[in-house]
Amino acid sequence: MARSLHDGFGRSINYLRISVTDKCNYRCVYCMPEKGVPPRDHAELLTAEEIARFVSLVAAEGITRVRLTGGEPLVSHRIVPLIEEIRAIPQIEDIALTTNGALLPRMAPELRGAGLDRVNISLDTLDPARFSQITRLGRVEQALAGIDAALAHGFHPVKVNTVVVRRMRQDVLELAKLSLDRPVHVRFIEYMPIGSTASAPAGERSSCRAMAAEQELDARLWDASDVVPSDELRERISTEAAAAGIGELEPVDAAPYGAGPARYWAFPGAAGTVGFISAMSNHFCSSCNRLRLTADGQLRPCLFSDAEHQVRDALRAGDDDAVLARYREALACKPQQHDRIDGTARLMSQIGG
Ligand code: SAM
Ligand code: SF4
Repeated sequence: MARSLHDGFGRSINYLRISVTDKCNYRCVYCMPEKGVPPRDHAELLTAEEIARFVSLVAAEGITRVRLTGGEPLVSHRIVPLIEEIRAIPQIEDIALTTNGALLPRMAPELRGAGLDRVNISLDTLDPARFSQITRLGRVEQALAGIDAALAHGFHPVKVNTVVVRRMRQDVLELAKLSLDRPVHVRFIEYMPIGSTASAPAGERSSCRAMAAEQELDARLWDASDVVPSDELRERISTEAAAAGIGELEPVDAAPYGAGPARYWAFPGAAGTVGFISAMSNHFCSSCNRLRLTADGQLRPCLFSDAEHQVRDALRAGDDDAVLARYREALACKPQQHDRIDGTARLMSQIGG
């Protein structure tokens, strides 16, 4: 049986989130610049074999759950073989993937066949015009077809992720209502200052508070006033639902598998649930069980800290001891909790959300 490694604060670390690419077929306004992330030399990025090798090494150190993310993991040509390789590692109990869903209708059968257990699909609005505005390149029907494909191909549980940004004026009740007749778990996530210390156009950072509501969001111009605290949002959804005759949200006892930091509620008689992830208003650092691996082979102990530990060179040199030494070093450096206001230099698409 694999041993379970603890960090410096006694937290057992069993969950690895892997960014398989920082490229994406969308350009969500809060996540990516309009022109995409700067192109990278191929040699800088981990190959599928290197990622799988890393997972097999850390599986012996207690990693049992893996999430593949990005960027958009489904634009990576190596995603299916990578899932197959990770599936073959005996200690790995759970393989999940976060996607914008656009390529799921086409790829769901082969992803399932490769051994993927479950998917989270991102969807920030059901309004077609607003969806295209937020994603810049997407259509809402793609995400909806992605959700249907995930359900049809037996991924379980299926979760829908919505990042709530005050200025985006999202149709949150309509999104929550997706859980009424589908067994999906709609989770509302507080907007986090990821990428907010990346170089922003001169003069703009200081003026971001004054940005007009109609102005386009930019991850580099994150502003605290755009965060909608989960409690405020839950109350709003509950009140609007009661007024619409749906009934108020009620807390649920049994959260879906892999609930992590989300707290779950449900409408009376609903097939699914509504979750809230309060990364900003009520951080959950004391139970954090995860590490992140970026597409260029950096281990990040904390989403909110730019401290990174490079494993790519050791992997490439075939030096397993050095890889594990870097892994243990990253674990030992995992901070007790994150600073809630400080941002990060890398964008979410470059870290792996
Ligand atoms: N492309 C895939 C997708 O959109 O699901 C996977 C990568 S994306 C970076 C993962 C998640 O991070 C998405 O749900 C996205 O909305 C979320 N995200 C991006 N920037 C964020 C931010 N600043 N705060 C909170 N969530 C964010
Ligand atoms: Fe792409 Fe996901 Fe970022 Fe949107 S949130 S730009 S889909 S990586």
